[in-house]
Amino acid sequence: MISRPIQKILVRAPNWIGDAVMATPSLTALRRFHESAEIVLLAKPSVAALFEQHPDIDRVMTYEDLGRHRGFSGLWRLSRELKHEQFDMAFLLQNALEAALLAFFAGIPNRVGYATDGRNFLLTRSIRKKNPAPHRSDAYLALIGLVDAEGDSTSAEEKCPPYLVVSSQERQAARDFLKSLGVPDGEGPLIGFNPGAAYGTAKRWLPQYFAALADQLIEEKQAKILIFGARSEIEVAETILKQMKHPAFILSGKTTVRQLMACIKTCHLFISNDSGPMHIASALSVPQIALFGPTNAAATFSAGPFDLMVQNKVDCAPCRHRHCPIDHPCMTGLSVETVFTAATQQLSQTHKKKAAVFLDRDGTINPDTGYIDTIDRFTLFPGTAAAITRLNKKGIPVILVTNQSGVARGFFPESFVGHLHLYLQRLLAKKGAYLNGIYTCVHHPDFSACNCRKPAGGMIRQALLDHSIDFSGSYVVGDKSSDLELAKALAPEEIATSILVKTGEGTQTLKKLERLGKSPGAVAENLSEAIDWILK
Ligand SMILES: [Zn+2]
Repeated sequence: MISRPIQKILVRAPNWIGDAVMATPSLTALRRFHESAEIVLLAKPSVAALFEQHPDIDRVMTYEDLGRHRGFSGLWRLSRELKHEQFDMAFLLQNALEAALLAFFAGIPNRVGYATDGRNFLLTRSIRKKNPAPHRSDAYLALIGLVDAEGDSTSAEEKCPPYLVVSSQERQAARDFLKSLGVPDGEGPLIGFNPGAAYGTAKRWLPQYFAALADQLIEEKQAKILIFGARSEIEVAETILKQMKHPAFILSGKTTVRQLMACIKTCHLFISNDSGPMHIASALSVPQIALFGPTNAAATFSAGPFDLMVQNKVDCAPCRHRHCPIDHPCMTGLSVETVFTAATQQLSQTHKKKAAVFLDRDGTINPDTGYIDTIDRFTLFPGTAAAITRLNKKGIPVILVTNQSGVARGFFPESFVGHLHLYLQRLLAKKGAYLNGIYTCVHHPDFSACNCRKPAGGMIRQALLDHSIDFSGSYVVGDKSSDLELAKALAPEEIATSILVKTGEGTQTLKKLERLGKSPGAVAENLSEAIDWILK
């Protein structure tokens, strides 16, 4: 029984990182189905960290299962906290009885989940598990109602691939961290290895194979090798390093979840067993080779657009053993040569640079109402989200570059700009659009010199470092001269195409340019028209 429109939704996240990443398409679907609802994710700490700044979620509540929510009294305390929130609906992506008990005791009137663990009587809508299981992402989408229990679409709405978000600041911090470990700058791809797997040794490719592959990648591709893993996986990292001729860098146990994400994002290629980090790399669009042994790829392969799976098919797979009781043929038979060939193929793709579209903010995507110092003063021009979606669908990176000297002038704090940009990403997410990067200059020449304030090229250089961008094939769109001059910020090496929009100060800018006898690459009525011009 629904007593009022759904205003507040609780999503209980899965407890494993890989499962949580595979649940992100269902969060995207939920966001679009319930545009005006507040969506709150309840997750244990390591999973909660994945969702910082995720635009499909309004808020994350942490389930401190080892802290204040520990044991039965802790669970009761958590249910009181949830009750206080007055949720209208709960989606239980975690399959245990406990999740259903929590939602029930929190008095959430609509409780949706799989009929598992004897909890059917606690749910108001339940789905039975299918055998064979569909892909895990589809199983979560079935709860939201985007697909049926077999994973077939029931709606015109498209399924989105999993995605996670890492900020430009986090990437820079990751590069600084790698530098502090002694990882050299310069030529040669950065390749991450993930040789562990939490479930057991059966899912692990052999350490001596990783070692031989690393040496070959260093010798033939001038690669720099990073070995990732949890604290409990340091031993396997050290075993690999001991068998190598060349040096590699061990990150196992040295990173938080956020740092792990940012370090993976800096890699040109990630080579991983079937594990949480495999799903992270996929959701961050990092080119990847997934090494599959005994597990069922149909249910858990990340299958993102930049993922390549290699597998030695054997009769005994898939099996459910944590440790192989025989001679581990699925993994011993997956040769170094096979993986090296796959790596070569992936690296040749990675080095292809893509044209991007750089957008100005105030006056281009939103009305310029002077210094925007409260979130309610921020609205998008009609058609902005739809225009950005058209670029997203073509796989063209969309990057926002904005001067916000109001920070240097003391009109609002830098943290406000961060909040506003998360709000902007959420507005776009509701319409199925996203920005691949946001770069802000918070300086003003009266207070401090910088090389990032437009028309200087600092923000462009940072974006080229973060995304593989061919600047000379790219476009810069804006309403002010300083936006258009950005096209020449890297001249004479690379010059982009500038497009003036007549919104914001665009009309005055056009007159000014005409007086000076200058002209932009193109002139458009608004952003939508500018993007049509780019795509035609
Ligand atoms: Zn600056």
